[in-house]
Amino acid sequence: MTDATLTTPAITGGPSLPQERRLVTSIPGPRSAEILARKAAAVAPGVAHSVPIATVAAGGGVIVDIDGNSLIDLGSGIAVTTVGNAHPAVVAAVAEQTARFTHTCFMVSPYEEYVAVAEALNRLTPGDHEKRSALFNTGAEAVENAVKIARKHTGRQAVVAFEHGYHGRTNLTMALTAKSMPYKSGFGPFAPEVYRAPLSYPFRDGLSGPEAAKRAITLIEKQIGADNLAAIIIEPIQGEGGFIVPADGFLPALVEWARTNGVVFIADEVQTGFARTGAMFASEHFGIVPDLITTAKGIAGGMPLAAVTGRAEIMDAAHAGGLGGTYGGNPVACAAALAAIHAYENDGLIERANEIGAILRERLTALQVSDARVGDVRGLGAMMAVEFVDPATSEPDAALAGAVARAAIAAGVVTLTCGTYGNVIRFLPPLAIGDELLHEGLDVIAQALAEA
Ligand SMILES: *Cc1c(COP(=O)(O)O)cnc(C)c1O
Repeated sequence: MTDATLTTPAITGGPSLPQERRLVTSIPGPRSAEILARKAAAVAPGVAHSVPIATVAAGGGVIVDIDGNSLIDLGSGIAVTTVGNAHPAVVAAVAEQTARFTHTCFMVSPYEEYVAVAEALNRLTPGDHEKRSALFNTGAEAVENAVKIARKHTGRQAVVAFEHGYHGRTNLTMALTAKSMPYKSGFGPFAPEVYRAPLSYPFRDGLSGPEAAKRAITLIEKQIGADNLAAIIIEPIQGEGGFIVPADGFLPALVEWARTNGVVFIADEVQTGFARTGAMFASEHFGIVPDLITTAKGIAGGMPLAAVTGRAEIMDAAHAGGLGGTYGGNPVACAAALAAIHAYENDGLIERANEIGAILRERLTALQVSDARVGDVRGLGAMMAVEFVDPATSEPDAALAGAVARAAIAAGVVTLTCGTYGNVIRFLPPLAIGDELLHEGLDVIAQALAEA
């Protein structure tokens, strides 16, 4: 290619795409392979990919590639297209907004779309206290800003993050993230005053929630000191770390301790938010009300948008001009978010996440019963995972997770892995997927496991 044009065929995505798994070539097909060869020559190799196709359309529960293959989507672009890819209401909102204005910078001349997203977030996030929101572009940026706000509010510097935590790829969020490869290795030095506490990981630590919380709190008090601590940040369910659901009582004990000690409790719901877990926010499952909550991924049906939402008295600590950014709360992304949020609230998507969760749990538990290499099945709603182990020792089996995922992809099912040990396959289907397609995807996974 010598000019900036595309070879992509004209095709419309969204739910009207045939909802079927259809392989017309091997994966990758020849046209995908050609584009992936161009990728290898033109794109920095640090930006890796797991499914070797060139996408041309997506919607409902499928992703279509440039060779005409239709793959079952069990990943939602990492929990982003929860509402459904190219959701018609999101597409219409984006088109309407784009035709009026694409940008002014909210810090130059504000607009209603941003304000309406902030109002929706203030209304929908847990707790009926007075709240404020600020909008950004990415999850990492939201996390960075939540920490800025907590520091300004408390006048303290230290931040506690947890084992298996993932918070992004910027400097501060790399520091907050637990896993070295691929996120941190060689990219230091990292931001100072970040400390790591032990998590509750029921499958591996055997502790009750209160016991695990006591262990974390003791470490925090002895190694950092509450007086130095601005914030605790934690994903209610660890995402990249392996879909680890903490034992009952773990999160409430941490929130209670934070409140008693004037420490800001930040729930990073970038992956768990927006109906994904069968509640609008995962915090609701654990009965906690975070002081601040960070959101992104599912918020805007695929458009880049992120937010920090929280207690007015904490959010008000940042001085005028201290928060923001050129693109933060872009009007097109806000219009998409308003359409997506309307769908989450009015189209039964929370119920749908629970239905999908019930199917996933039943099918994955059946796998566990018949195959000792499936050590654990866990998650909530449409955020479920299996952890693969050596049956004799319970040691993590990353090779098996990788082999199953690769075989599933080759058979036309987009399957993502995760986990500190790389031995977890996670299921994050779009809530627009149908039962039949979901079952077919799980049949393919089961067969890939049987043959691995
Ligand atoms: C994905 C993710 C982030 C980072 O979001 P980006 O938009 O990729 O910067 C932060 N926290 C959690 C829990 C995530 O899953």
